[in-house]
Order: sequence, then structure tokens, then C-alpha cells
Amino acid sequence: MNIKILSLVFASLFLSSFAFYHDASAQEIPGWIKNNAAWWAEGAIDDTAFLQGIQYLIKEGIMIIPPTEISGTSESQEVPEWIKNNAAWWAEGAIDDGTFVTGIQFLIKNGIISVEQEKPTETIVEPTDKIYDVIIIGAGIAGIGAADQLNSQGMDVLILEAKDRIGGRLWTTYWDEAGKSVDLGASWIHGTTNNPIAKIANDNGIELFETDLDNTVTFGADGEWLTDDQVVDLESLYEDFQQYVSYKEDSPGADVSIKTVEENFISSRNLSDGQKEWLRHMISMDMEHEEAADAHDLSLKADIGKPHLGAEVIFPGGYKQILDTMTDGLDIRLEHVVSKVEYDSQGVKITTDKGDFNAKYAISTVSIGVLKSGDIEFSPELPADKQQAIEKIGMGLMNKLYLLFDDDFWDDVTYLHYVAKDQQPQWEILNLNPIGAPILLAFTIGDHSRELEKVSDEVIIAEAMGILRTMYGEETLEPIDYLRTKWASDPFAYGAYSYSHVGVTLADWKAISSPVNDRVFFAGEGTTMDYPATIHGAYLSGLREAANISNLN
Ligand SMILES: Cc1cc2nc3c(=O)[nH]c(=O)nc-3n(C[C@H](O)[C@H](O)[C@H](O)COP(=O)(O)OP(=O)(O)OC[C@H]3O[C@@H](n4cnc5c(N)ncnc54)[C@H](O)[C@@H]3O)c2cc1C
Repeated sequence: MNIKILSLVFASLFLSSFAFYHDASAQEIPGWIKNNAAWWAEGAIDDTAFLQGIQYLIKEGIMIIPPTEISGTSESQEVPEWIKNNAAWWAEGAIDDGTFVTGIQFLIKNGIISVEQEKPTETIVEPTDKIYDVIIIGAGIAGIGAADQLNSQGMDVLILEAKDRIGGRLWTTYWDEAGKSVDLGASWIHGTTNNPIAKIANDNGIELFETDLDNTVTFGADGEWLTDDQVVDLESLYEDFQQYVSYKEDSPGADVSIKTVEENFISSRNLSDGQKEWLRHMISMDMEHEEAADAHDLSLKADIGKPHLGAEVIFPGGYKQILDTMTDGLDIRLEHVVSKVEYDSQGVKITTDKGDFNAKYAISTVSIGVLKSGDIEFSPELPADKQQAIEKIGMGLMNKLYLLFDDDFWDDVTYLHYVAKDQQPQWEILNLNPIGAPILLAFTIGDHSRELEKVSDEVIIAEAMGILRTMYGEETLEPIDYLRTKWASDPFAYGAYSYSHVGVTLADWKAISSPVNDRVFFAGEGTTMDYPATIHGAYLSGLREAANISNLN
């Protein structure tokens, strides 16, 4: 075992025991430390590992060392042999705690271990006159990615995050009842080919699970199972629609909504009621659920990004594992709500509910929803083209409803499709049984999802279960637990992700990402034309702005 591993083992042993020993009286040294003392004396762990542990205990107030009064000097910075003997005797019970502490006092007095005697106060650090190189607003994947990059270049970076957790719209939580980690925000790496997030996952041995999106079963509005032939027929209808969309997209003229295109298509073809229902379902699954917006809001030119190539994978152990690979050494202040960003040619002043912070540069990574809300004031006001882009670019909504059952009663496929009647809202239902628990994950989007945020848990569950009962009849079980999200009501997101609302142009996408006066930079999912609405898009936008700042220095 090398020193680093030993130190980690040691630190984690101490950390895991922290809660238990924290209230112990000052001189009461926990017995388990004696094991480490014995190993150290035997040479099984080295000085660094042992002293780091002692440092940790003192710093955290687990072992309080009284002011040192003993005399004695150490010629070198090495640990004298007699202290090792002390440790061995102490471990055996041959000397008492007080004598051992005397040895530790000696180490402190002679600078062999340096410690802060006082336990640090928690996360609140008083704002100072200090000028950071860069302050980043938001500890989502864009902010953390940017900070990690700048930090590795030696810049002094501070992240101010409003919530009491990092991750933003990347939000993994442990679901006790299911015994699993689940993602309440992003789930997928959309396309693993040349995807930086897939690379991070692979480099760090993070487990991924490939979802075969074509492995589906489709139920008609009355709960009948669509035959393969029917599905093939209906798919060719949808292909026809897609060609119609491309043709319209390439035609000159003002932008219109996807809904308008859908209506025009229906009038140009003689479709049966069943075909109209199918078309609605396919548009909803393929476009509305993808963009998290209703067809009447979605631009005909909404599909702006680059294609996602490769597998669609999810994280059985949670997406947060990706973030955890980047946070080492970052200064992140949680529960710091930014309300104002003032900038001039010299620098940036950021106002939070915990005081002001100053930097040479700032990167805002907040969502388009937050920018739209005006909750953060920019002074001077942002340029007109950026303000216009903020107004025009849409903030879409997608919510998740996780349902946990005692057993799976549904088909062994990836998606359970239900073609809703008439113009009823379409749910999308993902089977998570393959990752180890009988869970269905139901997605809603747009206006329907916004309405559902206002209803009680019982109402939303009843709506989802109504669909499942239509599909599976008597086999349907009642859920034993559930989790639901309300992304539109989240004041630090105000929705799920950005989309091209009718009328949005490429100039708007360009304006949203442009730096202001080379002082305030804008990153985040909603500032990327290449991979909008994704984790990898957000991450790359963070790296982009980190590079823009580095290039100025
Ligand atoms: C339900 C849902 C499903 C999704 N599914 C996928 C998917 O499967 N795959 C995929 O690739 N992407 C998916 N996404 C999109 C993905 O989650 C986002 O693109 C990405 O997480 C955005 O990261 P970000 O850093 O740009 O923004 P955020 O994660 O929103 O980070 C911004 C941070 O700023 C903080 N903040 C906001 N206001 C303030 C303030 N005033 N002061 C201080 N801090 C503030 C926020 O709390 C947040 O932590 C999904 C999103 C949702 C909501």
C-alpha cells in the first residue's frame, strides 16, 4: 500500500467515526486510534499517514491538545523514536492518554505537526476584500467544469451556489425505499461517441447501462397492443411527416410552430382518427419530449444541435459520480444566493445574501429560466441583443415521476408507449427494472407538466396509474412509493432546459453566449448551439468560457 492510499484509509476511518466521537470530552481519546498507533509503531503505516490522522483529529476538535508547556527541542523535523515507543506502549495500555498527548504536544511544539486548534466554523466564510481571479455563479456541471479547468491552471476560483447541494439540474438522490440512487434531473449521456462525459465515466470506471431506445411496446388509446405491422405503417406515416417538416424548414418564410406544421400536414393528407392520434403521439415523443416543450411553442427550426452519436446510457449509481470526479480542491460556497452582478473595466462585484465578493471575471452558469426571471440584476444592464435572446429563447419543462412497485407487471422493454386519445397529453414511460428494482419512470412535459406541479401527489399518481391500468388491466399493482419533481417551481432553475421557441434565430443563440465587456461570461446548457439541453453541452460550455478567460491572461 502506498502512503496516499494509507492516508486515505486512515482519514476515512477517522471520518466515519467522527459523528460518534465528536461529543467526547476533550481529553477522551477514542480507543480505535490506538490500533493506528500500534500499526505506526510497528511500521505498518508511515509517519505521514499517522500524523495526518492526528492533525485531522485536532482540527476537528475530536482530540483537544492543551497548550504545550513541556520543554524540549527537536533538531530535525523527524518524529523522535521515543514517541513511537510511546505510541506502542499507549496502544498496549502501558501508558495513559495524558502521557500520549504529551508526546503529541511535543510534536506540535516542535513544528513536526502543524494544526489549527480551533474547529473551523461550517461553510460560512465571511466575505472579504479579496479579489478572486474568477467567480462562477452556479455549481452545476457547467460551473464545476469551468472551475476545475481554471483551477488546474492555477487561477483562484470561487463558486457561489444558491442551493445546499452541488449539481443543479444534475441531481442524484438515494431512494431508501428502492435501495437505489436515482436521478431527478438528467439521466442519460446522450450519445457516447466523442462525448466528454462518456470519457470521464470510462476513465473513472463509472458503471453505465445502455438503454435500447428501440426496444418498445406500444398500446393504443383503448389499451390494445399495436401489432408490428400497425407500428410499421404508422412509422412510415411519421417519416412522411418528418420529410414534410424538412421541406418546410428549407422553404423561405417566417418561422412557424411545429403545431402549425402538424395541422398543415393533417389537412394535406386524408388521415384516419387513429393515424392522427399516432402522429400526435410520435410528435410528442420525438420532438416535444426531446425539447421539453409543446408543439405550439416549438420552432420549426428547433432542431439546432449536432447529432448525438453512439449509445444512450444511464448511470445505475447516479449521474453525480461524474461531478464527484471534478470537485477536488474547488472552493464552493453553498447557500449563497447571488442577486446582483456589477461590472466595469476593472472587475466584477457579486452581491449575495451572505455579502459581496469581488473578482477580475465572472461566469454566470444559471439557467435561461433564472436569467428570464430577473432575479439576478446586472449592472450596467446586459446588452440589448443578449436581453432579447434571454426573452426569446424558451425555458422548457420536463418532470419526472418515479413509481416503485413490489414487482414488475409490465413488459420487459425499455419504453412502454401509450398513444393517448385525441389531443390528450402524452406521458413517456421508461422501465428501470433492468437496473435492479421494479421502478417505472414517467415523464411529462410542457403545459401539462406545469399544471401537474400544482396538483397533489395523489392526483398525479392517479393520472399515471390510470394510463398503466388502461395498458395492463388487472395485472397493474399499486405503487409502494414514489418520487416526483417540480422543476418549474424551482427558483434556481425555473424549468428543465432551453429550447428554440418560435422566432428564435441563430443570432439569439450567439448573443446568449457572448461575453459582456470581457468581464462577465455566460456558460450553461442554454448557451450552447452545439449540444443544447444536455449535460455534455453544459460541460463543454463551461470549458469554453474557462478558455475565453484564460486567453485574456
Ligand atoms: C428533468 C430533467 C431531465 C434531463 N435529462 C437529461 C438527460 O437525460 N441527459 C442530458 O444530457 N441532460 C438532461 N437534462 C439537462 C441537464 O440536466 C442540463 O443541461 C444540465 O444539468 C445543465 O447544467 P448547467 O450547469 O448548465 O445548469 P444548472 O445545473 O442549472 O447549474 C446552474 C446552477 O446555478 C445555481 N443558481 C441558480 N440561480 C442562482 C443564484 N441566484 N445564485 C447562485 N446560484 C444560482 C443553481 O442552483 C444551479 O446549481 C435534463 C434536465 C432535467 C431538468
